[in-house]
Amino acid sequence: MSLSKYNQKRNFNDTPEPAGKARKADSKLIFVVQRHHASHLHYDFRLELNGVLLSWAVPKGPSLNPADKRLAMMVEDHPLDYATFEGDIPEGNYGAGHVDVWDHGTYEPVNEESETITPKEFKSNLHKGSIKFRMKGKHLKGEFALVKLKRGQEDNSWLLIKHRDKYATDEPYNSEDYAKKSSLKYTEARNNRRGLKKKSTP
Ligand code: MN
Repeated sequence: MSLSKYNQKRNFNDTPEPAGKARKADSKLIFVVQRHHASHLHYDFRLELNGVLLSWAVPKGPSLNPADKRLAMMVEDHPLDYATFEGDIPEGNYGAGHVDVWDHGTYEPVNEESETITPKEFKSNLHKGSIKFRMKGKHLKGEFALVKLKRGQEDNSWLLIKHRDKYATDEPYNSEDYAKKSSLKYTEARNNRRGLKKKSTP
């Protein structure tokens, strides 16, 4: 786990995002889900481990419906300070667009029997490509799993899956229904601009 990739991709003179420094964490592990409208809209799902945020880009966003297996592309670790980042990443920078926190809270690593495990055991499961955890957020509650697709060693594809518990739903789940007004306004304005551009081309 290292923040060198995170730092390499960014010019901190030009983006308001925090520079990467790993730091010692409080006892409870945090999670954050950020709605990021970059070249494509996606949700960044981040779990704290060993002083950084493990990160996955989830194009369709998380779901509380266990039938939804949401593709989650593992990306570079982010600094813990990123958990509160919201705002605009200027054009020309990596991930240019708009970021809002969609959900945040704490989580507990668990085993197959839903018993709490140590961060060390959790890290070992991460390397095996299968982690399970209990989330305590505003939107995301209860048990989830992230399972790596075995498509070759270089592949970063995982699936984010809600486990069946009292927080699960069988109704269709769309994370956009729970997005902040500011997020939706940004996306609407951007889509309108694109619409205008299309209309003006002969
Ligand atoms: Mn992103």
